[in-house]
Amino acid sequence: MRPVPIESQPLVWNPCFANLGEDFLTHLQPTPLPETYWIHKNQHFLRTLGWPTEGLNSADALLAFSGCAIPEGAKPFASVYSGHQFGVWAGQLGDGRAITLGEVDSALGLQEVQLKGAGPTPYSRRGDGRAVLRSSIREYLCSEAMHGLGIPTTRALCLTGSPQSVRREEIETAAVVTRTAPSFLRFGHFEHFSSSGQTAQLQKLADHALAEHLPECKVRASAGEHNGNIYAVMLQTVCDRTAHMVAQWQAVGFCHGVMNTDNMSILGLTLDYGPFQFLDGFNPRHICNHTDSQGRYAYHRQPNVAYWNLFCLGQALAPLINDQDLTVSVLETYKSSFPMALDQAMGRKLGIVDRALIDQLLQLMAKEQVDYPLFWRQLSHAVLAQGAQTGSEASAWTLVRDLFLDRPAWDIWQQDYLRALGEHDVSQVGQSMLAHNPKFVLRNHLAEIAIRKAKSGDFSEVDTLMTLLQSPFEEHPGYEAYAQLPPAWASSIEISCSS
Ligand code: AMP
Ligand code: MG
Repeated sequence: MRPVPIESQPLVWNPCFANLGEDFLTHLQPTPLPETYWIHKNQHFLRTLGWPTEGLNSADALLAFSGCAIPEGAKPFASVYSGHQFGVWAGQLGDGRAITLGEVDSALGLQEVQLKGAGPTPYSRRGDGRAVLRSSIREYLCSEAMHGLGIPTTRALCLTGSPQSVRREEIETAAVVTRTAPSFLRFGHFEHFSSSGQTAQLQKLADHALAEHLPECKVRASAGEHNGNIYAVMLQTVCDRTAHMVAQWQAVGFCHGVMNTDNMSILGLTLDYGPFQFLDGFNPRHICNHTDSQGRYAYHRQPNVAYWNLFCLGQALAPLINDQDLTVSVLETYKSSFPMALDQAMGRKLGIVDRALIDQLLQLMAKEQVDYPLFWRQLSHAVLAQGAQTGSEASAWTLVRDLFLDRPAWDIWQQDYLRALGEHDVSQVGQSMLAHNPKFVLRNHLAEIAIRKAKSGDFSEVDTLMTLLQSPFEEHPGYEAYAQLPPAWASSIEISCSS
């Protein structure tokens, strides 16, 4: 079965990456799935993109976004990249199950539209080119959750499914996530051409990224940054964006389960949601990927892993930067930019920037594995009540205190915190904290419940979670259960690379 072209899909396709040519990608067709069905349409994002509102409503749209038909004007492809996986050079990888339909103009600029799980490509190696319903729901929900939290990420436009069997640890069914980003370029794309000595292609790729996606680099290089070395400025930009992204991850308690260099975006977007997790109890050593037996990607290691990955990118760009000392000095900036970004992010959570208070607090929380999202939300409410002085502050503080077993240690920290807050407009601080400490995050068990229901054909939990996670700082009265402590069974959920 080959996909058939359709003409009624109202998007304007405008090739950009594909113009780089066949050293970079292979044109191919998705492999259609049988009896496809809708799981979710992100109408909210469709409107943000400024795409025609009928875009997801036709039968043709279902065909197009499940890989069963090709929209008129689209010329699908899969791209080649390489990468380091779990610290080891893995050689050539590539889009093994993601097929880009093409690029489309939008209110957010040019967007690559990619179908994840649309069938095998020349880069599938031994894989089947498919994605299962379980992992597709997780990616779909989490990318929107991250966006709702204000964290840079790829986005998701819609989710379709099929009864086709897919073999993983057990037999599951197939799904396709339609995801978008200005570019899905990874560190691994640059490593691919650099490692094989294809310097002309490396430069072509870097010039493409600079012209299409990082235009500020040219301006900064022209102004003399890094002696006008535009590739050094490019590396600097990726270092800065990565520092910002990982600081946001850490602050919200997010772990990316597979921080391989092929899963690191050149634009500093959270990319490839597999075995990710938002922390429940605060355990800095938490490993969210069942397959990661060494804990390489444990929560507390992620900032250093990002630095390691940036070194791989620096090495890949070295032939273009052509100045080893400069390359190293750019990479070194991460050592100060990351802690600075983290201080700011944690400062927004605490309401004031105070590294000593944060360090003491996190030690206290780690000792007892205090629930991370719940603590911050309740602390925000307590500070707001403290500022309002309506008499509700005592009970608001009690709710926070009750999260700790070592109450005397908590009391000491609270006294120090109140003293530090005393110099500020406490009401205003409380308001700001509520806008930076989400009520709703995609805890594993919430995703799990949505997956279980979806497996029986009920997608209502996907709908509900999308609504809550798209505005996670709002109260959403009636949905308190989604913001509570996880049930006991949540700790037994095992998420692996198998997706
Ligand atoms: P990941 O661990 O998902 O980042 O994938 C690592 C590499 O394996 C990438 O090149 C993926 O495209 C490829 N891959 C993962 N799963 C599959 C699959 N089911 N079929 C084909 N390729 C896959
Ligand atoms: Mg990947």
